[in-house]
Amino acid sequence: MILNKAKAISILFSIVLFVFLGIIGSNNYLLFHSISEIFSICIAFTIFSITWNSKEYIKNNFLMILGIAYLFIGILDLLHTLSYKGMNIFTDYDYYANQVWIATRFLESITIFISFIILNYKKKINTYVIFAIYLIVTTAIMLSIFNWRIFPICFIEGVGLTPFKVISEYIISLILIISLACSRYYKNTFDKLTYNYIAVSILFTILSELAFTFYVSNYGFSNMIGHFFKIISFYCIYKALIEKGIKEPNYLIFKELQNQVDTDGLTGLFNHRYLYDKLEDEIRRTLRTKIRFSVIIFDVDHFKNVNDQFGHLKGDEVLVGIAKVMSQLTRNTDVVGRYGGEEFMVILPDTDINSAFIVAEKVREGICQMDLCGNGTKVTISAGIAEFSEVYVGDEVLPIPTLAANLVDAADQNLYKAKTQGRNITCGLDE
Ligand code: GH3
Ligand code: MG
Ligand code: MG
Repeated sequence: MILNKAKAISILFSIVLFVFLGIIGSNNYLLFHSISEIFSICIAFTIFSITWNSKEYIKNNFLMILGIAYLFIGILDLLHTLSYKGMNIFTDYDYYANQVWIATRFLESITIFISFIILNYKKKINTYVIFAIYLIVTTAIMLSIFNWRIFPICFIEGVGLTPFKVISEYIISLILIISLACSRYYKNTFDKLTYNYIAVSILFTILSELAFTFYVSNYGFSNMIGHFFKIISFYCIYKALIEKGIKEPNYLIFKELQNQVDTDGLTGLFNHRYLYDKLEDEIRRTLRTKIRFSVIIFDVDHFKNVNDQFGHLKGDEVLVGIAKVMSQLTRNTDVVGRYGGEEFMVILPDTDINSAFIVAEKVREGICQMDLCGNGTKVTISAGIAEFSEVYVGDEVLPIPTLAANLVDAADQNLYKAKTQGRNITCGLDE
C-alpha cells in the first residue's frame, strides 16, 4: 500500500479517535456511547447529503439506495442514542434503545441485500420513490416501538438479551454474509476502489453485529468494540460515495474545462497557449536532463488561394483535414498544436534535428498526397525545424520564455527559408 501524507494523517486521526473514545468508554460509558453514535450519525447524514446532491452523477443504483437509506438509518440511530439507558429523555419505558437498534440494523442489512438484488436493473431508479418508501418504513418502525409498543422486547436489565434479540442479530449477520457473497459476484459492476470500500463496510457491519450478540450489559467491552466497528463500516460507505458522488464528477468536470482551455476549437489540436507552456516545460527538462528536443512549424502554402477559390468554410475543412493527418503521422508523445491561423507546431520530445526532419518530411509528403479540397486541387505545406539542446544556450543565463521565443524564432526563419526556396519543402537541417 502506498502511504501518502493524506492517508497517514487519516490513519493517525483514526487511531487517536479510537484511543480517545476508548479512554472515555472506560470512564463514562454513556458519554462514550453518545459520542460514538453521534459520530456515526454525522457520517450517515453526510452520506445522504452527498448522495442527494449528486443524484445526477451517481449512475449506480446500489449506491443511490444506500445513500438515501442512510438518512433514515441516521435518524433511527439518533433515536436509539437519545433513548439509551441513562439519557433520561424517554422515562416511560426501558426497552426503546435496543428495539430501535435492532430495527435499524434490520433496515440497514435488508437495504444492502435489496440493493444487490436490483444492482443489474438497467434503468435508473426514481430517487423520490425510494425516499418515500424509506419514510413510510421508518415511520412504521417508530410507531411500532414508541406508540403501539408491538415491537418485541430485546433486552431486560439484569437478565440480558432476549432470544428475539440474539436470533435477530444472527439473522442480520446472515443477511449481511449473503450480501458479502453477492458483492463478490457483482464485483465487476463497481470500480475497484468503490468495491473495496463496500466490501470492507459490510464486513465490519457483520463484525459489529457479532460483537453485539455477546454482551450481557448495555455498558460493556464487546458493546464498545461493536460501536468501533460500526464507525468503520459507516466511514467506508461514506468513502465509496465520496469517490462516486464528488471526486469522480469533479474530476470529469475539471478535465472537460481543462480541455476547453487547452484546445483549439476548430481542429481539436492544442492551442497556442498550451504549445508555449509545453515548450517551456520541455526547455526546463532539457536544462535538467540534457536530453534535446525539436520543434517543427508548418505553414500552408498559398492558403489565401484556397479561401479565395472555394470559400472560407472549405478553407476551414482543409485545416481540419491537415490537423488529422498531422496527428496520425506523429507519435503519441509528440505535441501537435495549431500555432495560429493556418500555421501548426509539433513539439517532439527526445528528438534531435535529424529525426525532426524525417517527421516533417513524412507529414509534408502525407499532406501533399491527400485530396484535402475534395476536387483534386493540391494543398501543400512548408516546414521549418529547430532543435533545442543545452549546448545552444551557452553561458548566458536567459529566462525560459526568452529561450522558448528564440527557439520558435529559429524554426520560423527556417520556415521563411522554405517559403523563399519554392515552398512544399522542409528547411533547417544544415546542408
Ligand atoms: P504562403 O503562406 O504560402 O506565403 O501563402 P498564404 O496564402 O498561406 O499566406 P499567409 O500565410 O500570409 O496567409 C494565411 C491565410 O490563411 C490568410 C487567412 O485568410 C487564412 N486563414 C487564417 N486562419 C484561417 C482560418 O481559421 N480559416 C480559414 N478558412 N482561413 C484562415
Ligand atoms: Mg501563415
Ligand atoms: Mg500560408
